Amino acid sequence: MSDRLNQPVTQLKGIGPEMGETLAGMGIHTIKDMLGHFPYRYEDYRLRDLADAKHDEKITVEGTVHGEPALVYHGRKKNRLTVRLLVGRYLVKAVFFNQPYMKQKIHLNDTITVTGKWDQHRQTISVNEMASGPHSRSQEFEPVYAVKGKLTVKMIRRHIKAAFDQYGDSISEILPVELLSRYKLMNRRAAFMAMHFPGDPAEVKQARRRIVYEEFLLFQLKMQSLRKLEREQSPGIAQQYDVKEIKRFTDALPFPLTGAQKRVVNEILSDMKSPYRMNRLLQGDVGSGKTVVAAIALYAGITAGFQGALMVPTEILAEQHADSLHQLLEPFGVKTALLTSSVKGKRRREILELLQNGEIHVLIGTHALIQDEVIFNHLGLVITDEQHRFGVEQRRILREKGENPDVLFMTATPIPRTLAITVFGEMDVSVIDEMPAGRKSIETYWAKQEMLDRVLSFMEKELRKGRQAYVICPLIEESDKLDVQNAIDVYNSLTVYFQNRYKIGLMHGRLGSEEKDAVMKEFSSNEVQVLVSTTVVEVGVNVPNATFMLIYDAERFGLSQLHQLRGRVGRGSEQSFCILLADPKSEVGKERMTIMTETNDGFVVSEKDLELRGPGDFFGRKQSGLPEFKVADMVHDYRALETARSDASALVQSKAFWESDKYLLLRRLLEESGALATEKLD
Ligand code: ADP
Ligand code: MG
Repeated sequence: MSDRLNQPVTQLKGIGPEMGETLAGMGIHTIKDMLGHFPYRYEDYRLRDLADAKHDEKITVEGTVHGEPALVYHGRKKNRLTVRLLVGRYLVKAVFFNQPYMKQKIHLNDTITVTGKWDQHRQTISVNEMASGPHSRSQEFEPVYAVKGKLTVKMIRRHIKAAFDQYGDSISEILPVELLSRYKLMNRRAAFMAMHFPGDPAEVKQARRRIVYEEFLLFQLKMQSLRKLEREQSPGIAQQYDVKEIKRFTDALPFPLTGAQKRVVNEILSDMKSPYRMNRLLQGDVGSGKTVVAAIALYAGITAGFQGALMVPTEILAEQHADSLHQLLEPFGVKTALLTSSVKGKRRREILELLQNGEIHVLIGTHALIQDEVIFNHLGLVITDEQHRFGVEQRRILREKGENPDVLFMTATPIPRTLAITVFGEMDVSVIDEMPAGRKSIETYWAKQEMLDRVLSFMEKELRKGRQAYVICPLIEESDKLDVQNAIDVYNSLTVYFQNRYKIGLMHGRLGSEEKDAVMKEFSSNEVQVLVSTTVVEVGVNVPNATFMLIYDAERFGLSQLHQLRGRVGRGSEQSFCILLADPKSEVGKERMTIMTETNDGFVVSEKDLELRGPGDFFGRKQSGLPEFKVADMVHDYRALETARSDASALVQSKAFWESDKYLLLRRLLEESGALATEKLD
């Protein structure tokens, strides 16, 4: 970039230290930042023909005052000035609220221009702005900017104008001409110009298209060059596994792998065999069979002479995984061990010792795995389950416990494709998009609160067949404000309802981990038939005999979370049911319930969730690492995102991109963004 543009904004006329500080608070430090502070919307002051104005639309019209303005007071401060206005062929009313002084400015037969909201039914404009005389704005299509503190939109317009006058010529093109002509994109300076000083909406659209593409391309170039660099600079272990052994292992499984499982296993194995370090995300809906895939990968590593680790977010999950991996791997002579914070004393020392001398092949555990005392002998593969629950730092520590071990992240949260390619752009992604054969979809119903009695008799019918049920409640404690059912209340009332017929258990986040375990064990062994719980059962818990789930206040959960919860049932061969008890007030709430009843496909659910919530809220947390684009919108502009991704990939692979002068400015921008540094982000 031109160095001129990197000068501080205080270089501009009219921007002193104080204004400089206000601007800095908005992230505007340099001239470049100022030029790139784009409007978030535009005010359209072009004259409109009333014939095509829509109800509730903001419009500007010019008209002649027809009749004396009438001022009516209702209350001491409230008043309304009504002016009859002849606009073209239409006689309409212009109404001014609480601006009595306007009466003096408006006279019979005057021509005036008014801007305001059009009420088509009443043929009335509620006026926001008025000018005497005919329409005479120099700029009919005005940018509106985000502002802060004492800074007004007018002021920032002036500053941006000044920035353009003095520095506009320094905005140089960064994209090669092939891309500009392939997509018929405006050049960079013209696009910046048009964003700030547009003649009409069509121009903004073209300018926006150019800038969206540029933002996505830069972002994708950054991700993909990181990935390339990472591959070249941190060689991993080429694990020489034994294919025959792996085959023996898969043949011994009680079921054939699904096509999707076979595909992802091959993707993972070829990463493990390659000299590069695997950095792969495995996505698969609940119940799609990720555990078996993990077991195969771990076993492959063991046949190559390496140890493996599996890290999961909770103790309950760690135990379950330890159990199922033990069952799968033990017959093949693999020694597995569980390490959580509740493994203490002698047992703990023993595990740590066996691990260090290589006698334990696979270690399963919680974040206990990343403590200093945990030393592997030759760690080759690290798998983390439910990866978005772990911080970047924790993943890094675990990875550094071996010499560049291969890393596989597993997640049961189906991530919409658009988000996956943005957030995980520097990772390889494998998707299990097929359920094991014979899996019945979970019949899901939406019931109003008042139908609770019928829902409970339905539940009892299932219990009588020997099945078990989950009852999910949103909060642990009563909160008057939120007026939600709490788990304890529900537990108490269900205990009364089912009396001596069935035993009810209670599970929530306030219980200690031993209490939780005890409850979970009672439920797994069917000593307890109904488990009332908060969302702590959300992840991974596996009780195949549980075929019924009732979710209270379901409107309080997000779509993806409802889907996760629902995944606790439908894990056996029997038909399962999920009842959403909800009285949603909003349209979005109703739509969420409907979507849940219509599909069992996690990817469909997640796409809808993204549509309803927007990318920022999708992960529910800031740590998601979602990039922030100034203009581009990942959901709305997903086509541009896909295009930019494949262009970036082709560029990064090409020799020309790294050598030719044509790409010099692009490369420099990447450098500035830190993408070409050797230290890699996670
Ligand atoms: P996930 O971890 O993806 O939610 P699991 O690995 O726990 O799913 O698998 C869910 C259930 O499906 C387990 O009981 C597992 O044994 C079974 N399963 C896995 N793969 C298959 C398959 N290919 N065919 C039949 N059942 C399978
Ligand atoms: Mg799992």
